[in-house]
Amino acid sequence: MNERDSEAVAAQLMTKGYAVAPDEAQADVILLNTCSVRDAAEQKAINKMETLIGQTRKHNPDAVLGFMGCMAQSRGAELVDQLPDVDLVLGTQKFHRAGEYLEDLLNGRRDKVVDTDEEEGSEGAIREHLLNAQSESKAVTAFVSIMQGCNQFCTFCIVPYTRGRERCRSIEDIVAECRGLVESGVREVTLLGQIVNSYGKREIGVKDGKSAFVQLIEAVHEIEGLERIRFTSPHPKGYGDDLVDAYVRLPKLMENAHLPVQSGSDRMLKLMHRGYTRDRFLELVGKLRTAAPEMGVGTDIIVGFPGETEADFEETMSLCREVEFDNAFLFKYSRRRDTPAAEMPDQLPEELIEERHARLLKAVDEIRVRKFNEFVSRRMEILVEGPSRRNAARLEGRTRCNRIVVFEGGDRFVGQVMDVEIESTSPTTLYGNPAIINLN
Ligand code: SAH
Ligand code: SF4
Repeated sequence: MNERDSEAVAAQLMTKGYAVAPDEAQADVILLNTCSVRDAAEQKAINKMETLIGQTRKHNPDAVLGFMGCMAQSRGAELVDQLPDVDLVLGTQKFHRAGEYLEDLLNGRRDKVVDTDEEEGSEGAIREHLLNAQSESKAVTAFVSIMQGCNQFCTFCIVPYTRGRERCRSIEDIVAECRGLVESGVREVTLLGQIVNSYGKREIGVKDGKSAFVQLIEAVHEIEGLERIRFTSPHPKGYGDDLVDAYVRLPKLMENAHLPVQSGSDRMLKLMHRGYTRDRFLELVGKLRTAAPEMGVGTDIIVGFPGETEADFEETMSLCREVEFDNAFLFKYSRRRDTPAAEMPDQLPEELIEERHARLLKAVDEIRVRKFNEFVSRRMEILVEGPSRRNAARLEGRTRCNRIVVFEGGDRFVGQVMDVEIESTSPTTLYGNPAIINLN
């Protein structure tokens, strides 16, 4: 989501005549997009800005330095007090104002700008794409922001405070953006939101037994030339049968579900205010795998939430063994200001969180690698995205279940859907052979 926001701001500035600088030292404007979800991310952004100030102010005293995104939103003017060299603080509902504020700053009309206000309609402002501006090969995949904000208020999470209440774009607006992307060569879109399955609940509602989100997927599915649709993140709460069924009905919808579970303990889930139980989560995974047996299931887990006992943690371990996630992001609980969990009793010591995190990481990694190796010798459909990020002489694509496959091949494959045979694996990548050429 942050990457998508950065891209939209960069694209907005390029339409105003700016160009992407080859490196920081040559830039006249440096904006750091910041994440606040964990404290470590905030500290990293502050340290980076301190380094930039030291380097930039010496050789380019007029350069504009700014923070944008979640930390800008939650800390506002406090950032300028802490780092007086910072010129711009741009909140999460103000990305589309970057251009006008930069002009004011660069022309000396204003000395500093801090804008973290709410702005009606800002959810529709993240729409510009860079696509082919930076790389030689055409962009084959793109992210599309369908909504902003979150109303769930999980007790550990800062997002509802930094991104505001949930606001959705219209189906027409999103489809128009996707259509434009397809016309520029994009073959796969990923629909983005904090809880995508609550898209349009109030504004659009259920029609013919289909939730607004499923209506949106269907509308995007109709776009000719679009090959693949993904979305992230759905929330286990309110994940309806209509969305499970969409995987069966809609061939362009890829068999991949990133379903953040956070914990395997009902007691923790309740304290976290997640809105579902362990059983409900397991039932959902079962339904998804029945609907689409090839479904790649991923998750996010927080280790060390306040009050987590060894027994609660064991429940998370056992859930991971039961589900056998294809991919799991494990986070050490980070105390976030103003969130209810920050004030809960029994905050766990760091060493205990570290120790549980390491144990869980070992368990989920063993499962992941074992499942990964089962792909060897199989034939899989991939969409070829471009040169491999590790080795530009090779190509890279993704399976329907979202695995990266690297293989030998020429530029003409880019943007094509084709079959490859998986020959070997590394811990994170499949290596394939395009033995069977099946260009659509
Ligand atoms: N909206 C998504 C998650 C967005 S934040 C959802 O609810 O599914 C991405 C992930 O960061 C979360 O899934 C959670 O695992 C993690 N996270 C959020 N707040 C955190 C905190 N205070 N400490 C540690 N991890 C956190
Ligand atoms: Fe945060 Fe919960 Fe909303 Fe996800 S659903 S963004 S974790 S409050």
